[in-house]
Amino acid sequence: SEVLKLSGITKSYNTGKPNEVQVLQGADLTVAEGEVVALVAPSGAGKSTLLHIAGLLDVADSGKVQIKGQDMTLKSDRKRTATRREDVGFIYQFHHLLPEFTALENIVLPQLANGVSERDAEARARSLLDTVGVGERAGHRPAALSGGEQQRVAYCRALANEPSLLLADEPTGNLDPGTSDRVFEALMSLVKGTGMSALIATHNLELAARMGRMVRLTDGRLVEEG
Ligand code: ADP
Ligand code: ADP
Repeated sequence: SEVLKLSGITKSYNTGKPNEVQVLQGADLTVAEGEVVALVAPSGAGKSTLLHIAGLLDVADSGKVQIKGQDMTLKSDRKRTATRREDVGFIYQFHHLLPEFTALENIVLPQLANGVSERDAEARARSLLDTVGVGERAGHRPAALSGGEQQRVAYCRALANEPSLLLADEPTGNLDPGTSDRVFEALMSLVKGTGMSALIATHNLELAARMGRMVRLTDGRLVEEG
């Protein structure tokens, strides 16, 4: 069954300028359970806009967003927020970890907020950190970690509450190429270990080719790549 379905999504930004650009012009996409999809396009094509609409952080001008079969389009803000918290995990180019907390705490806290016991939250955090090879760094604050380590901790945090859908926007975009490669592998291990669905935006075609499927965002629409 499908975890995410976008149908006929359109979006433009009202900038007040006469020749306003329509960023999305009827984007359609289905992501099945367990599927990992690369979203490729050059910078400025509308990848972040599409991810924010898919993750219920922004609303489309028209079209339909379904998450786990539920039409979210006309739902209240409250219902959309609840679904986002329960079902969606976000990863960004820059990590947004809480600087005053350790790596472990950064992964424990969202679980406590979600009603998980401290013991279970810590066990899960340690297991996630081990999966991405940062287990030994659990007690360090973000500032004491390398850029690649910080990104890996952020991946663990995004997956802490076991979302059904992971949305990632250039997840290795701020790392040098060698580091990016290894850190991307860590992300793939995490995603495959949980069986979740993922939509991962990147302009790196080599990374995109390592995912199960590739869609290209071009002229505001999504096209399957062979
Ligand atoms: P990408 O993630 O592919 O770089 P974005 O979705 O960030 O693309 O942006 C797509 C286009 O929409 C760009 O031309 C960008 O300048 C414009 N845009 C994005 N956000 C806004 C906004 N809040 N207001 C006005 N224009 C925006
Ligand atoms: P919480 O308060 O539990 O973190 P939120 O609804 O604020 O839940 O956010 C859920 C997810 O969406 C978080 O991963 C957060 O980083 C991200 N998020 C929330 N608002 C924005 C925003 N305006 N832009 C980008 N990401 C956001």
